[in-house]
Amino acid sequence: MNNFTYLQATQAKEATAAVRDSKDAAFIAGGTTLLDLMKLNVENYGQLVDINTLAFKGIEQTADGLRIGALERMSDVGEHPLVVQNYPVVSQSLLLAASPQLRNMASIGGNLLQRTRCGYFRDTAFPCNKRVPGSGCPAQDGENRGLAILGTSKSCIATFPGDLAVALVALDAVLLLENAKGKQRRVPLVDFHLLPGNTPQKETVLEPGELIVSVTIPAAAHARKSTYLKVRDRTSYAYALASVAVGIDVQDGTIRSARVALGGVGTKPWRSVAAEKILTGAPATEATFRAAAAAAVRDAQPREQNRFKVELAQNTLVRALTELTTA
Ligand SMILES: Cc1cc2nc3c(=O)[nH]c(=O)nc-3n(C[C@H](O)[C@H](O)[C@H](O)COP(=O)(O)OP(=O)(O)OC[C@H]3O[C@@H](n4cnc5c(N)ncnc54)[C@H](O)[C@@H]3O)c2cc1C
Ligand code: SF4
Repeated sequence: MNNFTYLQATQAKEATAAVRDSKDAAFIAGGTTLLDLMKLNVENYGQLVDINTLAFKGIEQTADGLRIGALERMSDVGEHPLVVQNYPVVSQSLLLAASPQLRNMASIGGNLLQRTRCGYFRDTAFPCNKRVPGSGCPAQDGENRGLAILGTSKSCIATFPGDLAVALVALDAVLLLENAKGKQRRVPLVDFHLLPGNTPQKETVLEPGELIVSVTIPAAAHARKSTYLKVRDRTSYAYALASVAVGIDVQDGTIRSARVALGGVGTKPWRSVAAEKILTGAPATEATFRAAAAAAVRDAQPREQNRFKVELAQNTLVRALTELTTA
């Protein structure tokens, strides 16, 4: 790990300007992703800009929905009564992630910006297009059991590993961003993460020095009736092999509205509009759920070791929908 200087920012402008004006600087919130990658020499910065004293806090009901500050901690958000009651999928996605100690440190903004767990990315002895653009992607024909089957490219098949983003993308969450000029913009989370294409090193639409201020989740009947199902090698302290975030509003046996997103299988948090179209207006039966699950993975491009994810993702979605509609 290289030496770095430390700046405790007291204002957003100070923080954003410091990072915008230097390719060698990065924000630090909980540090649970950043310091990990710096210790592995995957990321190297000469200056860390601590944003923890900025006013990006609070969990409050607004006219647009529930607003959560980017510096709120995963544990506080996951256990908050408004989140547990009105957005169970969000609460569950947070409390099934990482460990209690990590959740106490890790922020919501940092969670959305966590990076892939692809072993080649995290080991500088290997080439990796995401870490060193143009160097190659050994995962295509190598160790790819945990990697993506949706949204892949010839350059990169890395999975987006997080849980929270999957729940938020299902519920139409919107991010508030702020740049070094103090200008704010809103970006739907579904448009925030980028597909790898030919530039897997570019993972989000964030501009240099731009901060995530908050995330807002609209209220909806399907948000109140929602769940997160995560399948992994161990039942705790492990990333998803496949996960689903679903929300559904059923009246008299007919699905009025549905939201579906998949985790552990996509190069970004994977919203499935195709599955939602099949569910909406259809009877809440296993046949409908199976058809929706097939649509969700129709474009899958599995590799040798992760072929099992095609069936796993479908079964996970069917189980989540069944549990939600029979509970
Ligand atoms: C062992 C382990 C297991 C884990 N398991 C899971 C899991 O099962 N599921 C899961 O979802 N996650 C898991 N995680 C990831 C963990 O949730 C993230 O590391 C954490 O949420 C990152 O938040 P942070 O505040 O520590 O981010 P930091 O490490 O401080 O920052 C991460 C990145 O985000 C940037 N950043 C931070 N805040 C902002 C902001 N407001 N605006 C702009 N940029 C910002 C930083 O510059 C940095 O690039 C695990 C992590 C570890 C180490
Ligand atoms: S899948 Fe992506 S992160 Fe993994 S080695 Fe290939 S380019 Fe790197």
